[in-house]
Amino acid sequence: MTLKNEKELSLSTKIAQALHYNDPETGSVVPPVEHTATYSRDENYEPHKAYWYRRDGNKTTQIAEEIIAELENADMSLLFSSGMSACTAVLEMLPPNAHVVVPKVMYHGVLAQIQNFSKKNRIRVDFYNAGDLTSMKEVIKTGVTQLVWVETPNNPNWEITDIGQASKLAHEAKAKLIVDATATPPTMTKSLDLGADISFHSATKYLNGHSDVSAGVLSFKKSNTDWENLAGIRKLQGTVLNSQDAFLLIRGLRTLFLRVEKNSQNAMLLAKHFESHNYIETVLYPGLESHPNHQIAKHQTNGQYGGMLSIIVKGSEADAIDIVRSCKVFYPATSLGGVESLIEHRKTVSGEDFPVNEKLIRISVGIEDPLDLINDLEQAIEKVFKKKGQY
Ligand code: PLP
Repeated sequence: MTLKNEKELSLSTKIAQALHYNDPETGSVVPPVEHTATYSRDENYEPHKAYWYRRDGNKTTQIAEEIIAELENADMSLLFSSGMSACTAVLEMLPPNAHVVVPKVMYHGVLAQIQNFSKKNRIRVDFYNAGDLTSMKEVIKTGVTQLVWVETPNNPNWEITDIGQASKLAHEAKAKLIVDATATPPTMTKSLDLGADISFHSATKYLNGHSDVSAGVLSFKKSNTDWENLAGIRKLQGTVLNSQDAFLLIRGLRTLFLRVEKNSQNAMLLAKHFESHNYIETVLYPGLESHPNHQIAKHQTNGQYGGMLSIIVKGSEADAIDIVRSCKVFYPATSLGGVESLIEHRKTVSGEDFPVNEKLIRISVGIEDPLDLINDLEQAIEKVFKKKGQY
């Protein structure tokens, strides 16, 4: 994959062309799916390439890793079979009893796994308020804290944590910083450039973008011992991304720039439409000037604000659930970052113990005609409040 005038090409060109993939044998412009589970050795009984067994990785997955590394401005990226297996590998890598600092409100699956590790005394955890550096500083212990975990924007409130400032706080205390920027892919936020030691994305979401792959990725500025350890954990846990999913991921990545721009435009239109609405209490979207972290978002997310927003409805929890159930264009489904719009009552999905407003509806805005989305939500709201005689 050598490009002429590579330096002159913009990132969007490189990504649309899968780094100008051109099969050396056939000239195919689409990478092949390498199905093999094992690799024969050469006449000297040496492996031909880096791989000798499926759990090490494979060519298709490696190409996907190279594309993501380019997006992240990283030296190395490691693809896992899910976002959760990538996060779990990071927790596995920590030394016994390591002190970890995490947001109180974040994606509930990662939080549950952190709590599992804590209950087994594998790690010690302190919590800070997402987006609040003062509260983060209060729980970081110099020389003790090993890892600061940031999710920005965080689920499902979409608060923004300043990655540059968080990295200063972590590094001054001799801790490392991992950033989960799943909701703002690297066309918007380059966590490593802003100071993160590890950039994480659930590639199930925007990176793939078509709701047909489960994947997670960890990226590093330079090859280092963390990268080696994580590659080792991935191999022994058997959590490398399979080639079929890597193929689909590469296809999805090619349109990432286009999709995210449209997701963001649509989300902004919805946020503005529902911002001052008779039946909506609040719209949580970093693109709105009323959002408390709007200024940080402005410089951290490249002038776009992504496709994720939440609305808190006036009325009851039952009304919020009823609105979700009454939508006809939005799918009432969990996940985010796809071409199709999804809507969910977050409390139902994340569970009773999770600290989330019971009237909060989380929306992943897709790339459809935004008017169809606005009209769908309007008819759902009308139906629910008419039934109550309040419309
Ligand atoms: N991090 C965030 C912010 C997520 O939204 C998710 C999934 O929703 C994950 C991590 C876990 O990723 P996966 O579902 O690919 O395992």
